[in-house]
Amino acid sequence: MTNKQDVFEEALVQLEQALSGMRIEASVVKQLKTPQRVVEVNFALKKDSGETELIQGFRVQHNNARGPYKGGLRFHPKVTLAEVKALAMWMTWKSALVDVPFGGGKGGLVVDSKSLSRSERMRVTQGFARAIHEFVGPRLDVPAPDVNTSGEEMIWFRTAWAKLHPDEKHPDALITGKPLREGGSEGRLEATGEGGVATLHALREAIRLPKKFTVSLQGLGNVGSHFARAVEKIGGKIVAAGDSRGAIANPVGLDIDKLLEYKRTQQTILGFEGSKKISVDELLEGKFDILVPAALEGVIDASRARILKAPIILELANGPTLPEADPILSKRGVVVIPDILANAGGVVVSYFEWYQNMHALKWAYDAVRTRLGSTMRSATTTVLERARSDQTTLRIAALRVAVERVARSTERRN
Ligand code: NAD
Repeated sequence: MTNKQDVFEEALVQLEQALSGMRIEASVVKQLKTPQRVVEVNFALKKDSGETELIQGFRVQHNNARGPYKGGLRFHPKVTLAEVKALAMWMTWKSALVDVPFGGGKGGLVVDSKSLSRSERMRVTQGFARAIHEFVGPRLDVPAPDVNTSGEEMIWFRTAWAKLHPDEKHPDALITGKPLREGGSEGRLEATGEGGVATLHALREAIRLPKKFTVSLQGLGNVGSHFARAVEKIGGKIVAAGDSRGAIANPVGLDIDKLLEYKRTQQTILGFEGSKKISVDELLEGKFDILVPAALEGVIDASRARILKAPIILELANGPTLPEADPILSKRGVVVIPDILANAGGVVVSYFEWYQNMHALKWAYDAVRTRLGSTMRSATTTVLERARSDQTTLRIAALRVAVERVARSTERRN
Protein backbone atom coordinates (compact mmCIF):
# COMPACT_ATOMS: atom_id res chain seq x y z
CA MET A 1 0.00 0.00 0.00
CA THR A 2 1.11 3.50 -0.72
CA ASN A 3 1.96 6.06 1.93
CA LYS A 4 -1.37 7.81 2.28
CA GLN A 5 0.25 11.20 2.78
CA ASP A 6 1.32 10.94 -0.85
CA VAL A 7 -2.00 10.01 -2.42
CA PHE A 8 -2.97 13.57 -3.30
CA GLU A 9 0.48 14.16 -4.79
CA GLU A 10 -0.09 11.07 -6.90
CA ALA A 11 -3.47 12.35 -8.08
CA LEU A 12 -1.70 15.57 -9.12
CA VAL A 13 0.98 13.64 -11.03
CA GLN A 14 -1.76 11.79 -12.91
CA LEU A 15 -3.43 15.09 -13.71
CA GLU A 16 -0.12 16.54 -14.96
CA GLN A 17 0.38 13.50 -17.22
CA ALA A 18 -3.02 14.16 -18.82
CA LEU A 19 -2.53 17.94 -19.01
CA SER A 20 0.74 17.63 -20.89
CA GLY A 21 -1.20 17.07 -24.14
CA MET A 22 -3.83 19.71 -23.51
CA ARG A 23 -4.22 23.45 -23.76
CA ILE A 24 -5.86 24.84 -20.65
CA GLU A 25 -5.25 28.28 -19.22
CA ALA A 26 -2.76 28.25 -16.33
CA SER A 27 -5.15 29.93 -13.90
CA VAL A 28 -7.80 27.28 -14.59
CA VAL A 29 -5.23 24.50 -14.16
CA LYS A 30 -4.45 25.95 -10.76
CA GLN A 31 -8.15 25.82 -9.86
CA LEU A 32 -8.42 22.21 -11.04
CA LYS A 33 -5.47 21.24 -8.84
CA THR A 34 -6.92 22.80 -5.70
CA PRO A 35 -9.99 21.71 -3.73
CA GLN A 36 -12.53 24.52 -3.39
CA ARG A 37 -13.17 23.71 0.26
CA VAL A 38 -11.61 21.49 2.94
CA VAL A 39 -13.57 20.93 6.12
CA GLU A 40 -11.93 19.32 9.14
CA VAL A 41 -14.04 18.45 12.17
CA ASN A 42 -13.33 16.90 15.56
CA PHE A 43 -16.21 15.68 17.67
CA ALA A 44 -16.84 13.45 20.68
CA LEU A 45 -18.16 9.91 20.34
CA LYS A 46 -19.81 8.52 23.44
CA LYS A 47 -18.79 4.85 23.67
CA ASP A 48 -21.07 2.15 25.12
CA SER A 49 -18.67 2.01 28.08
CA GLY A 50 -19.53 5.62 28.94
CA GLU A 51 -16.10 6.91 27.89
CA THR A 52 -15.79 9.53 25.16
CA GLU A 53 -13.39 9.39 22.24
CA LEU A 54 -12.44 12.32 20.02
CA ILE A 55 -13.08 11.52 16.36
CA GLN A 56 -11.51 13.39 13.46
CA GLY A 57 -13.31 13.73 10.13
CA PHE A 58 -12.94 15.48 6.78
CA ARG A 59 -15.19 16.59 3.96
CA VAL A 60 -13.35 17.79 0.89
CA GLN A 61 -15.19 19.60 -1.90
CA HIS A 62 -12.98 19.61 -4.95
CA ASN A 63 -15.03 21.20 -7.73
CA ASN A 64 -18.71 22.01 -8.34
CA ALA A 65 -18.52 23.70 -11.73
CA ARG A 66 -20.76 21.00 -13.27
CA GLY A 67 -23.16 20.47 -10.34
CA PRO A 68 -23.36 19.71 -6.60
CA TYR A 69 -20.31 18.05 -5.03
CA LYS A 70 -20.74 14.27 -4.95
CA GLY A 71 -18.75 11.55 -3.21
CA GLY A 72 -18.70 8.81 -0.63
CA LEU A 73 -18.04 8.68 3.10
CA ARG A 74 -15.14 6.43 4.09
CA PHE A 75 -14.71 5.15 7.65
CA HIS A 76 -11.23 3.77 8.18
CA PRO A 77 -8.60 4.09 10.93
CA LYS A 78 -5.98 5.10 8.35
CA VAL A 79 -7.96 7.80 6.55
CA THR A 80 -5.84 10.92 5.90
CA LEU A 81 -6.71 14.37 4.58
CA ALA A 82 -4.42 13.77 1.58
CA GLU A 83 -6.34 10.62 0.72
CA VAL A 84 -9.72 12.35 0.99
CA LYS A 85 -8.45 15.21 -1.21
CA ALA A 86 -7.34 12.73 -3.87
CA LEU A 87 -10.61 10.83 -3.73
CA ALA A 88 -12.57 14.10 -4.04
CA MET A 89 -10.58 15.10 -7.13
CA TRP A 90 -11.11 11.68 -8.74
CA MET A 91 -14.86 12.11 -8.12
CA THR A 92 -14.83 15.35 -10.11
CA TRP A 93 -13.24 13.60 -13.09
CA LYS A 94 -15.51 10.57 -12.77
CA SER A 95 -18.78 12.55 -12.68
CA ALA A 96 -17.64 14.54 -15.70
CA LEU A 97 -16.53 11.46 -17.63
CA VAL A 98 -19.94 9.80 -17.37
CA ASP A 99 -21.51 13.22 -17.93
CA VAL A 100 -23.72 13.41 -14.84
CA PRO A 101 -24.39 16.92 -13.47
CA PHE A 102 -22.30 16.52 -10.33
CA GLY A 103 -18.92 17.73 -9.17
CA GLY A 104 -16.53 15.93 -6.84
CA GLY A 105 -16.31 15.59 -3.08
CA LYS A 106 -15.35 13.01 -0.49
CA GLY A 107 -15.66 12.41 3.23
CA GLY A 108 -13.50 10.47 5.59
CA LEU A 109 -13.73 9.58 9.24
CA VAL A 110 -10.65 8.36 11.10
CA VAL A 111 -12.28 5.49 12.91
CA ASP A 112 -12.02 1.72 13.16
CA SER A 113 -15.70 1.13 12.62
CA LYS A 114 -15.26 -2.67 12.74
CA SER A 115 -14.38 -2.36 16.40
CA LEU A 116 -17.54 -0.34 17.20
CA SER A 117 -20.92 -1.70 18.28
CA ARG A 118 -23.91 -0.93 16.04
CA SER A 119 -25.10 1.85 18.36
CA GLU A 120 -21.59 3.35 18.44
CA ARG A 121 -21.53 3.29 14.61
CA MET A 122 -24.88 5.06 14.63
CA ARG A 123 -23.66 7.75 17.05
CA VAL A 124 -20.43 8.35 15.15
CA THR A 125 -22.33 8.69 11.85
CA GLN A 126 -24.84 11.09 13.41
CA GLY A 127 -22.02 13.06 15.04
CA PHE A 128 -20.33 13.43 11.63
CA ALA A 129 -23.63 14.55 10.04
CA ARG A 130 -24.11 17.22 12.72
CA ALA A 131 -20.49 18.36 12.42
CA ILE A 132 -20.63 18.95 8.64
CA HIS A 133 -24.38 19.60 8.20
CA GLU A 134 -24.06 23.15 6.89
CA PHE A 135 -21.72 22.06 4.10
CA VAL A 136 -23.91 19.27 2.64
CA GLY A 137 -27.41 19.28 1.14
CA PRO A 138 -29.36 18.01 -1.90
CA ARG A 139 -28.26 20.95 -4.09
CA LEU A 140 -24.92 21.51 -2.39
CA ASP A 141 -23.05 18.28 -1.65
CA VAL A 142 -24.49 14.77 -1.82
CA PRO A 143 -22.60 12.00 0.05
CA ALA A 144 -22.81 8.23 -0.58
CA PRO A 145 -21.32 4.96 0.78
CA ASP A 146 -17.65 4.10 0.44
CA VAL A 147 -15.29 1.77 2.33
CA ASN A 148 -16.92 0.54 5.57
CA THR A 149 -20.16 2.45 5.08
CA SER A 150 -23.43 1.17 3.64
CA GLY A 151 -27.15 1.92 3.45
CA GLU A 152 -27.47 1.85 7.23
CA GLU A 153 -24.98 4.73 7.71
CA MET A 154 -26.71 6.67 4.91
CA ILE A 155 -30.02 6.56 6.81
CA TRP A 156 -28.44 7.59 10.12
CA PHE A 157 -26.65 10.46 8.36
CA ARG A 158 -29.82 11.65 6.58
CA THR A 159 -31.95 11.46 9.74
CA ALA A 160 -29.48 13.52 11.79
CA TRP A 161 -29.13 16.09 8.97
CA ALA A 162 -32.90 16.35 8.36
CA LYS A 163 -33.51 17.28 12.02
CA LEU A 164 -31.30 20.34 11.51
CA HIS A 165 -32.92 21.21 8.15
CA PRO A 166 -36.67 20.75 8.73
CA ASP A 167 -37.60 23.00 5.77
CA GLU A 168 -35.82 20.87 3.17
CA LYS A 169 -38.45 19.56 0.71
CA HIS A 170 -36.37 16.64 -0.55
CA PRO A 171 -34.37 15.32 2.44
CA ASP A 172 -33.97 11.90 0.77
CA ALA A 173 -31.92 13.58 -1.97
CA LEU A 174 -29.29 14.56 0.62
CA ILE A 175 -27.54 11.23 0.30
CA THR A 176 -27.46 8.26 -2.09
CA GLY A 177 -26.91 4.55 -1.57
CA LYS A 178 -29.92 4.37 0.75
CA PRO A 179 -31.81 1.09 1.18
CA LEU A 180 -34.78 0.72 -1.20
CA ARG A 181 -37.44 1.16 1.46
CA GLU A 182 -35.77 4.40 2.58
CA GLY A 183 -35.82 6.18 -0.76
CA GLY A 184 -32.96 4.28 -2.38
CA SER A 185 -32.89 3.34 -6.05
CA GLU A 186 -33.30 -0.06 -7.59
CA GLY A 187 -29.91 -1.22 -8.79
CA ARG A 188 -27.72 1.13 -6.69
CA LEU A 189 -26.19 -1.63 -4.58
CA GLU A 190 -25.04 -3.54 -7.66
CA ALA A 191 -24.22 -0.44 -9.74
CA THR A 192 -20.44 -0.10 -9.29
CA GLY A 193 -19.69 -3.79 -9.84
CA GLU A 194 -22.14 -4.12 -12.72
CA GLY A 195 -20.93 -0.89 -14.29
CA GLY A 196 -17.40 -2.36 -14.27
CA VAL A 197 -18.67 -5.41 -16.12
CA ALA A 198 -20.51 -3.21 -18.64
CA THR A 199 -17.25 -1.34 -19.32
CA LEU A 200 -15.30 -4.57 -19.71
CA HIS A 201 -17.92 -5.89 -22.09
CA ALA A 202 -17.88 -2.70 -24.15
CA LEU A 203 -14.08 -2.97 -24.50
CA ARG A 204 -14.14 -6.68 -25.22
CA GLU A 205 -13.04 -6.56 -28.85
CA ALA A 206 -10.61 -3.69 -28.42
CA ILE A 207 -8.71 -5.44 -25.63
CA ARG A 208 -9.08 -8.92 -27.12
CA LEU A 209 -10.76 -10.41 -24.09
CA PRO A 210 -11.20 -14.18 -24.58
CA LYS A 211 -14.74 -15.67 -24.47
CA LYS A 212 -13.88 -17.43 -21.22
CA PHE A 213 -11.44 -15.71 -18.90
CA THR A 214 -10.01 -16.03 -15.41
CA VAL A 215 -10.15 -13.26 -12.81
CA SER A 216 -8.21 -12.47 -9.65
CA LEU A 217 -10.25 -10.19 -7.39
CA GLN A 218 -8.96 -8.18 -4.43
CA GLY A 219 -11.82 -6.92 -2.24
CA LEU A 220 -15.12 -8.68 -1.64
CA GLY A 221 -17.14 -5.78 -0.26
CA ASN A 222 -20.00 -3.98 -1.95
CA VAL A 223 -18.12 -3.42 -5.20
CA GLY A 224 -16.18 -6.70 -5.44
CA SER A 225 -19.08 -8.99 -4.54
CA HIS A 226 -21.48 -7.56 -7.13
CA PHE A 227 -18.75 -7.50 -9.75
CA ALA A 228 -17.99 -11.16 -9.05
CA ARG A 229 -21.61 -12.18 -9.61
CA ALA A 230 -22.00 -10.08 -12.77
CA VAL A 231 -18.71 -11.02 -14.45
CA GLU A 232 -19.69 -14.70 -14.53
CA LYS A 233 -22.48 -13.75 -16.95
CA ILE A 234 -19.95 -12.57 -19.55
CA GLY A 235 -17.64 -15.59 -19.27
CA GLY A 236 -15.48 -14.63 -16.27
CA LYS A 237 -14.40 -17.12 -13.63
CA ILE A 238 -13.07 -15.92 -10.27
CA VAL A 239 -10.09 -18.19 -9.58
CA ALA A 240 -8.48 -16.10 -6.82
CA ALA A 241 -9.92 -13.68 -4.27
CA GLY A 242 -8.62 -11.71 -1.32
CA ASP A 243 -9.81 -9.38 1.40
CA SER A 244 -8.26 -7.63 4.41
CA ARG A 245 -7.68 -10.96 6.18
CA GLY A 246 -6.01 -12.94 3.40
CA ALA A 247 -6.35 -14.50 -0.04
CA ILE A 248 -7.39 -17.84 -1.53
CA ALA A 249 -7.37 -19.55 -4.92
CA ASN A 250 -9.06 -22.39 -6.72
CA PRO A 251 -8.02 -22.90 -10.36
CA VAL A 252 -11.37 -24.54 -11.14
CA GLY A 253 -13.21 -21.42 -9.95
CA LEU A 254 -14.63 -20.18 -6.65
CA ASP A 255 -18.38 -20.51 -6.09
CA ILE A 256 -19.10 -16.85 -5.39
CA ASP A 257 -22.47 -17.15 -3.67
CA LYS A 258 -21.12 -19.84 -1.34
CA LEU A 259 -17.93 -17.86 -0.73
CA LEU A 260 -19.84 -14.70 0.21
CA GLU A 261 -22.06 -16.69 2.56
CA TYR A 262 -18.93 -18.27 4.10
CA LYS A 263 -17.36 -14.81 4.56
CA ARG A 264 -20.56 -13.53 6.16
CA THR A 265 -20.69 -16.32 8.73
CA GLN A 266 -16.92 -16.83 9.33
CA GLN A 267 -15.76 -13.18 8.92
CA THR A 268 -12.95 -14.49 6.71
CA ILE A 269 -12.58 -16.25 3.37
CA LEU A 270 -9.63 -18.33 4.60
CA GLY A 271 -10.50 -22.01 4.91
CA PHE A 272 -13.23 -21.89 2.23
CA GLU A 273 -14.00 -25.36 0.89
CA GLY A 274 -11.86 -26.46 -2.07
CA SER A 275 -9.54 -23.42 -1.93
CA LYS A 276 -5.92 -22.99 -0.92
CA LYS A 277 -4.46 -20.01 0.88
CA ILE A 278 -2.24 -17.77 -1.27
CA SER A 279 -0.18 -14.67 -0.53
CA VAL A 280 -1.13 -11.12 -1.52
CA ASP A 281 1.74 -11.21 -4.02
CA GLU A 282 0.29 -14.32 -5.65
CA LEU A 283 -3.17 -12.70 -5.73
CA LEU A 284 -1.91 -9.56 -7.46
CA GLU A 285 0.97 -10.89 -9.53
CA GLY A 286 -0.24 -14.35 -10.60
CA LYS A 287 -1.19 -15.59 -14.06
CA PHE A 288 -4.81 -14.54 -14.66
CA ASP A 289 -6.56 -13.00 -17.67
CA ILE A 290 -7.75 -10.05 -15.59
CA LEU A 291 -6.64 -8.55 -12.30
CA VAL A 292 -9.37 -6.62 -10.48
CA PRO A 293 -8.31 -4.49 -7.50
CA ALA A 294 -11.54 -3.62 -5.63
CA ALA A 295 -10.23 -2.71 -2.16
CA LEU A 296 -7.94 0.22 -1.39
CA GLU A 297 -5.55 2.49 -3.29
CA GLY A 298 -1.86 2.09 -4.07
CA VAL A 299 -1.60 -1.70 -4.43
CA ILE A 300 0.18 -1.64 -7.80
CA ASP A 301 3.52 0.13 -7.51
CA ALA A 302 6.47 0.16 -9.92
CA SER A 303 8.01 -3.09 -8.71
CA ARG A 304 4.72 -4.95 -8.91
CA ALA A 305 4.02 -3.44 -12.33
CA ARG A 306 7.26 -4.97 -13.61
CA ILE A 307 6.29 -8.52 -12.68
CA LEU A 308 2.54 -8.91 -12.56
CA LYS A 309 1.31 -11.32 -15.23
CA ALA A 310 -2.30 -10.31 -15.94
CA PRO A 311 -2.55 -8.59 -19.36
CA ILE A 312 -5.62 -6.59 -18.27
CA ILE A 313 -6.29 -4.62 -15.05
CA LEU A 314 -9.82 -3.44 -14.30
CA GLU A 315 -9.61 -0.79 -11.57
CA LEU A 316 -12.73 -1.05 -9.46
CA ALA A 317 -11.02 0.50 -6.43
CA ASN A 318 -10.15 4.18 -6.55
CA GLY A 319 -6.47 4.80 -7.23
CA PRO A 320 -5.13 1.22 -7.00
CA THR A 321 -2.28 1.95 -9.46
CA LEU A 322 0.43 4.45 -8.59
CA PRO A 323 1.44 6.91 -11.34
CA GLU A 324 4.98 5.43 -11.27
CA ALA A 325 3.47 2.09 -12.36
CA ASP A 326 1.48 3.39 -15.33
CA PRO A 327 4.33 3.89 -17.84
CA ILE A 328 5.77 0.48 -16.93
CA LEU A 329 2.45 -1.26 -17.49
CA SER A 330 1.87 0.60 -20.72
CA LYS A 331 5.34 -0.33 -22.02
CA ARG A 332 4.68 -3.97 -21.18
CA GLY A 333 1.38 -3.84 -23.11
CA VAL A 334 -0.79 -4.30 -20.01
CA VAL A 335 -4.18 -2.66 -20.57
CA VAL A 336 -5.34 -0.65 -17.56
CA ILE A 337 -9.06 0.19 -17.54
CA PRO A 338 -8.91 3.24 -15.28
CA ASP A 339 -10.90 3.74 -12.08
CA ILE A 340 -12.68 6.90 -13.19
CA LEU A 341 -14.27 4.84 -15.97
CA ALA A 342 -14.36 1.30 -14.52
CA ASN A 343 -16.03 2.17 -11.20
CA ALA A 344 -18.21 5.06 -12.40
CA GLY A 345 -21.38 2.92 -12.32
CA GLY A 346 -21.82 3.91 -8.66
CA VAL A 347 -22.02 7.63 -9.35
CA VAL A 348 -24.24 7.04 -12.38
CA VAL A 349 -26.91 5.23 -10.36
CA SER A 350 -26.36 7.66 -7.46
CA TYR A 351 -27.38 10.37 -9.90
CA PHE A 352 -30.47 8.32 -10.86
CA GLU A 353 -31.29 7.93 -7.16
CA TRP A 354 -30.88 11.67 -6.50
CA TYR A 355 -32.98 12.50 -9.59
CA GLN A 356 -35.78 10.14 -8.49
CA ASN A 357 -35.74 11.67 -4.97
CA MET A 358 -35.86 15.24 -6.34
CA HIS A 359 -38.82 14.38 -8.60
CA ALA A 360 -40.67 11.86 -6.38
CA LEU A 361 -40.18 9.10 -8.96
CA LYS A 362 -39.53 5.36 -8.64
CA TRP A 363 -37.85 3.71 -11.60
CA ALA A 364 -38.05 -0.05 -12.14
CA TYR A 365 -34.91 -2.19 -11.83
CA ASP A 366 -34.78 -2.89 -15.59
CA ALA A 367 -35.05 0.82 -16.41
CA VAL A 368 -32.09 1.59 -14.10
CA ARG A 369 -29.98 -1.23 -15.53
CA THR A 370 -30.72 -0.24 -19.12
CA ARG A 371 -29.80 3.40 -18.45
CA LEU A 372 -26.66 2.37 -16.54
CA GLY A 373 -25.59 0.09 -19.40
CA SER A 374 -26.05 2.75 -22.06
CA THR A 375 -24.25 5.42 -19.97
CA MET A 376 -21.27 3.13 -19.35
CA ARG A 377 -21.10 2.07 -23.02
CA SER A 378 -21.20 5.63 -24.22
CA ALA A 379 -18.45 6.77 -21.79
CA THR A 380 -16.33 3.74 -22.72
CA THR A 381 -16.65 4.46 -26.46
CA THR A 382 -15.69 8.10 -25.90
CA VAL A 383 -12.58 7.06 -23.94
CA LEU A 384 -11.57 4.45 -26.50
CA GLU A 385 -11.92 6.90 -29.39
CA ARG A 386 -9.87 9.51 -27.52
CA ALA A 387 -7.17 6.95 -26.70
CA ARG A 388 -6.96 6.05 -30.40
CA SER A 389 -6.93 9.62 -31.67
CA ASP A 390 -4.37 10.78 -29.08
CA GLN A 391 -2.43 7.48 -29.28
CA THR A 392 -2.38 7.25 -25.54
CA THR A 393 -3.50 5.00 -22.68
CA LEU A 394 -7.11 4.62 -21.57
CA ARG A 395 -6.24 6.45 -18.31
CA ILE A 396 -4.81 9.52 -20.01
CA ALA A 397 -7.67 9.52 -22.52
CA ALA A 398 -10.31 9.28 -19.78
CA LEU A 399 -8.67 12.06 -17.78
CA ARG A 400 -8.43 14.31 -20.83
CA VAL A 401 -12.12 13.90 -21.68
CA ALA A 402 -13.12 14.60 -18.07
CA VAL A 403 -10.67 17.42 -17.38
CA GLU A 404 -11.68 19.21 -20.59
CA ARG A 405 -15.35 19.16 -19.55
CA VAL A 406 -14.60 20.41 -16.02
CA ALA A 407 -12.20 23.08 -17.33
CA ARG A 408 -14.85 24.36 -19.75
CA SER A 409 -17.46 24.68 -16.99
CA THR A 410 -14.94 26.20 -14.57
CA GLU A 411 -13.92 28.83 -17.15
CA ARG A 412 -17.57 29.68 -17.76
CA ARG A 413 -18.06 30.34 -14.05
CA ASN A 414 -14.95 32.45 -13.55
P1 NAD B 1 -16.32 -2.19 1.27
O1 NAD B 1 -15.99 -1.66 2.59
O2 NAD B 1 -17.70 -2.69 1.03
O3 NAD B 1 -15.29 -3.35 0.88
C1 NAD B 1 -13.89 -3.20 0.93
C2 NAD B 1 -13.24 -4.54 0.69
O4 NAD B 1 -11.81 -4.34 0.65
C3 NAD B 1 -13.50 -5.58 1.78
O5 NAD B 1 -13.67 -6.86 1.20
C4 NAD B 1 -12.22 -5.53 2.61
O6 NAD B 1 -11.95 -6.74 3.28
C5 NAD B 1 -11.19 -5.27 1.52
N1 NAD B 1 -9.94 -4.72 2.06
C6 NAD B 1 -9.81 -3.69 2.95
N2 NAD B 1 -8.50 -3.51 3.24
C7 NAD B 1 -7.82 -4.42 2.52
C8 NAD B 1 -6.43 -4.76 2.41
N3 NAD B 1 -5.51 -4.10 3.09
N4 NAD B 1 -6.10 -5.78 1.58
C9 NAD B 1 -7.04 -6.46 0.88
N5 NAD B 1 -8.35 -6.20 0.96
C10 NAD B 1 -8.72 -5.20 1.77
O7 NAD B 1 -15.96 -1.03 0.21
P2 NAD B 1 -16.49 -0.86 -1.28
O8 NAD B 1 -17.63 0.11 -1.26
O9 NAD B 1 -16.64 -2.19 -1.92
O10 NAD B 1 -15.26 -0.07 -1.94
C11 NAD B 1 -14.11 -0.73 -2.47
C12 NAD B 1 -13.36 0.21 -3.39
O11 NAD B 1 -14.23 0.65 -4.44
C13 NAD B 1 -12.84 1.49 -2.75
O12 NAD B 1 -11.63 1.87 -3.36
C14 NAD B 1 -13.92 2.51 -3.06
O13 NAD B 1 -13.44 3.84 -3.00
C15 NAD B 1 -14.26 2.06 -4.47
N6 NAD B 1 -15.56 2.52 -4.96
C16 NAD B 1 -16.70 2.22 -4.28
C17 NAD B 1 -17.93 2.61 -4.81
C18 NAD B 1 -19.23 2.22 -4.17
O14 NAD B 1 -20.27 2.42 -4.79
N7 NAD B 1 -19.26 1.64 -2.97
C19 NAD B 1 -17.98 3.34 -6.00
C20 NAD B 1 -16.79 3.64 -6.67
C21 NAD B 1 -15.58 3.20 -6.14
